[in-house]
Amino acid sequence: MHISKLYRESKKAVVSCEFFAPKTDAGHLSLYKTFDRLKQISPAFYSVTYGAGGGTAQPTMDLVCKIQDDYGITAMPHLTCVGHTTGYLSSYVSDLKERGIDNILALRGDAPGGGKFNPVPGGLKYASEVVKLVDGFDHFSIGVAGHPEGHPECTSLEADVQYLKDKLDAGAGFVITQFYFDNKYFFDFVELARKVGIDKPIIPGIIPFVNAEHVMRFAKMNHTNIPEPLLAQMIDAGGDRQKSTELGIRQAVGQCKELLDSGVSGIHFFTLNNSMPTIEVIEQLNI
Ligand code: FAD
Repeated sequence: MHISKLYRESKKAVVSCEFFAPKTDAGHLSLYKTFDRLKQISPAFYSVTYGAGGGTAQPTMDLVCKIQDDYGITAMPHLTCVGHTTGYLSSYVSDLKERGIDNILALRGDAPGGGKFNPVPGGLKYASEVVKLVDGFDHFSIGVAGHPEGHPECTSLEADVQYLKDKLDAGAGFVITQFYFDNKYFFDFVELARKVGIDKPIIPGIIPFVNAEHVMRFAKMNHTNIPEPLLAQMIDAGGDRQKSTELGIRQAVGQCKELLDSGVSGIHFFTLNNSMPTIEVIEQLNI
């Protein structure tokens, strides 16, 4: 099932969940339990991240295939061009097609260990080039990343949105955004995108966090603003799992209610491989 079609045809907001491929057998078993619990909220599709530097290429492919084959849920692998030649990328994408995968989230990725991203010789520099490569297979529905507060390396939000348009013009059919905590950034971003002629679905990425300390670190790396009252509560919750989870759920429910009222085509949950907070958010929203 093509995800762009889901967004186009669904009468209600499309709920999707993102996971990472665990590194251990215990992590896999725990993730399968997460999948079992998530059945109750009937997510439309799952996506699986692609580890920094391509280290999870095979585990990502195996996990998306398992999700489709054993759980009957549409699955979308993320794919980055970090450390890969176009030859490698083409052969990987061809294997995905062969194994029945119909959707890809096409990304640039980041330099392993931080620092400036540089393509390998014979590799690709921007996500728009990854989109072009994947689109060449004439098979996949392609998603791309959006950055409501601007990508950390961008010269301006306006320039970043123009580059987002390049990705859609190259063949992508929808955008999933980075997580953020103030919907105003998302609404302004969508308005800017529509102004430059982007007419494809833009799906907000929401993180129902379970560890405020960790998420504050991610936020700093991504240049994500945390509004003052939320920041004070996050500092108070720190690494306390129960306090953090309650706060993460409350924050996500508040954001999602406003987003659904605005008529978004879907919501993408960064689950961090936990089922409970996402289930709780969906149940409170009654969607
Ligand atoms: P691009 O769209 O290529 O943009 C990167 C930078 O280059 C931006 O600053 C942009 O403004 C600039 N740019 C783009 N085109 C041009 C051009 N023609 N000329 C000059 N500048 C240009 N990372 C992972 O490693 N694995 C994952 O699984 C993963 N999943 C993600 C899922 C989502 C929903 C999101 C939002 C992000 C995810 N990321 C993941 C992070 C992503 O890889 C990083 O944010 C990365 O730094 C940028 O990726 P991009 O695809 O947005 O890059």
